[in-house]
Amino acid sequence: PTPPVDGDFYDIAGMLTPEQRELQLKVRSFMETEVQPLVNDYWLRAEFPFELIPKMAQLNICGVTYQGYGCPGLSNLTEGILAMEMARVDASVATFFGVQNGLAMGSIYKLGSEAQKQQWLPGMQQMKLIGAFGLTEPEVGSGAAGGLTTTAKRTGDTWVLNGQKKWIGNATFADVIVIWARDVDDNNVKGFLVKKDTPGLHVEKMMDKMALRIVQNGLITLTNCTVQEEDRLQNANTFKDTSEVLRMTRAGVAWEAVGCARGAYENALAYTTQRKQFGKPIASFQLIQNHLVEMLSNLTAMQTMVFRLSELQDENRLTDEHASLAKVFCTLRTRDIVSRAREVMGGNGILLQYNVARFVADSEAIYSYEGTKEINSLIVGRAITGHSAFV
Ligand code: FAD
Repeated sequence: PTPPVDGDFYDIAGMLTPEQRELQLKVRSFMETEVQPLVNDYWLRAEFPFELIPKMAQLNICGVTYQGYGCPGLSNLTEGILAMEMARVDASVATFFGVQNGLAMGSIYKLGSEAQKQQWLPGMQQMKLIGAFGLTEPEVGSGAAGGLTTTAKRTGDTWVLNGQKKWIGNATFADVIVIWARDVDDNNVKGFLVKKDTPGLHVEKMMDKMALRIVQNGLITLTNCTVQEEDRLQNANTFKDTSEVLRMTRAGVAWEAVGCARGAYENALAYTTQRKQFGKPIASFQLIQNHLVEMLSNLTAMQTMVFRLSELQDENRLTDEHASLAKVFCTLRTRDIVSRAREVMGGNGILLQYNVARFVADSEAIYSYEGTKEINSLIVGRAITGHSAFV
């Protein structure tokens, strides 16, 4: 008999409450029945499956951890488990959700005024309104903290934005984009809620991506784009406030990496038990088993790490360096796991239909976004040594 294929070797699911487990299985079922059948086709065409948005909205999970505004108000651990379940089937869909739920809604929930929260969060929770988060620029990625060149100039109650943003997920169709810009008067970074079709806002779809092809990343150009003071995030006054949002979303990316690794591992394990060479399943060969065990050990370490990370978050004890360490470790290990998954599948490992090639490509983007390995390592390095090595 073939043993069950499950990447949860230490039974993390057994530590969940019945409610968390039920939600995990609900999202798993959605991903396997609604997303899996169409995902390779959309990935290949680099298009977004818009028909999924209302179905996803019905799960009623958006704004996972937020209180009020129609949001479910669940734990950070639940949020992590759901991110893992999404990425286990498709990292692009997980990223779309992460941008909406974490970066965009998170900026408004954490840094917006009450009126801004009332205006945006209920519609975003229902996924009738989609959000994006514009921090990175063509010439400024890792150095965003001190280096943003997009400017904001205030005259009376009007702000004028000028500059460019690159890589902005969901931007091509978002109803609202959080734009981070430097106030030319006090030199501090501020956030602006820029609505779709605002004059001076131009979004171009980025082509040629070889990872997360379903995610619609935009190159944004702001040319004398005018925003009212009431649309400036009222509690975002310096880059420190932006970092508050990134700390939370980096923890989410660590969970996404776990999902991506788990999907690749489970698909590869199933394949090795079915594929025969030399008259035997390839799973019976020692060298193949070694790959599988290396994958499982890293995957198990990752799962226990993010579980504890979310517990710290739920205890309100999560620091930037906690989140960065998990982001670095999990995305690095994921790269190794997906590459071994591809390897044990031989040539079929590079065919989309075998459901590992997509993870191999997508894990490259997850490795670099929300802070590269180097930047997150330097955040941890600074915390443990007391020396900043950024510049
Ligand atoms: P660079 O900053 O140019 O870095 C290049 C290399 O130099 C990296 O290896 C980096 O680690 C290294 N490096 C830089 N500085 C140092 C240093 N001090 N010491 C050592 N090494 C260093 N951004 C958004 O704002 N919103 C989004 O929705 C969004 N979505 C994304 C989706 C995808 C698919 C991708 C790929 C990116 C996305 N990004 C988004 C941007 C992402 O956050 C940046 O790509 C990332 O921060 C790295 O910046 P960069 O690509 O400009 O690389």
